[in-house]
Amino acid sequence: MKSRLFVAGNWKMNLDKNQALQLVREIEKNKEAFENVDVAIFPPFTLLSAVNDLLTGEVCHLGGQNCHDELVGAHTGEISASMLRDVGCDYVILGHSERRANQLETNEQVKKKVAIAAESNLTSIICVGETLDERNLGQALSVVEKQLIGSIPVDVDYNKLIVAYEPVGAIGTGKTATINDIAEIHAHIRIILSGLSLKGDNICILYGGSVKPVNAADIFQITDVGGALVGGASLLSRDFISILHAGAAIK
Ligand code: PEP
Repeated sequence: MKSRLFVAGNWKMNLDKNQALQLVREIEKNKEAFENVDVAIFPPFTLLSAVNDLLTGEVCHLGGQNCHDELVGAHTGEISASMLRDVGCDYVILGHSERRANQLETNEQVKKKVAIAAESNLTSIICVGETLDERNLGQALSVVEKQLIGSIPVDVDYNKLIVAYEPVGAIGTGKTATINDIAEIHAHIRIILSGLSLKGDNICILYGGSVKPVNAADIFQITDVGGALVGGASLLSRDFISILHAGAAIK
């Protein structure tokens, strides 16, 4: 039997306030249908407060898409983990491949952010995943292993960690990874986590990369897939709710 699934919606730099609030109202209206799934949404920073005001906190939780690796200071344009906590967040996405590629975020920086997030009582969703070139070179397992080990602080509270496997070639492309590839990498991540900590057996491992209503149920069935990190499909209430229904149906 699977434990409770976790489904996260990463809105990235999308939606205005009206659209965001409408989407949240739709999710909340349907919550009885997926109350056995843990749900979190990750709006842009400017919408966190307004979205938090609408959430009842029973089913849907709030998270930030990034945080700085220090708590306060002269860091123009940055947001700290404690600020996310203050505005109602329980989660933060760290090391997303878009940030690793565009902001050149390193494992070392991600590791510092994970530590400071845990200090602020936030659960980190640590993203790892190989590029298409790395996969074609047969390096998927080793790349993911290096990112994972490099991004987890030694003495972190493992109850405050979630891992998301997101192969870069599958993000926003509609080219979901195959069931076999997802199963292989998730099994490898589980072995690494179990080797790092006794609590590693219980850490939730999400899959992300073009999860849609049409493929969610098959992905959720895979051993060691504990849920999904959803980008594009989390912006449309019908699609996101349909993915949540698929999660709710998994036993
Ligand atoms: C993501 O960016 O984390 C993601 C999984 O995006 P998409 O679902 O659009 O592929």
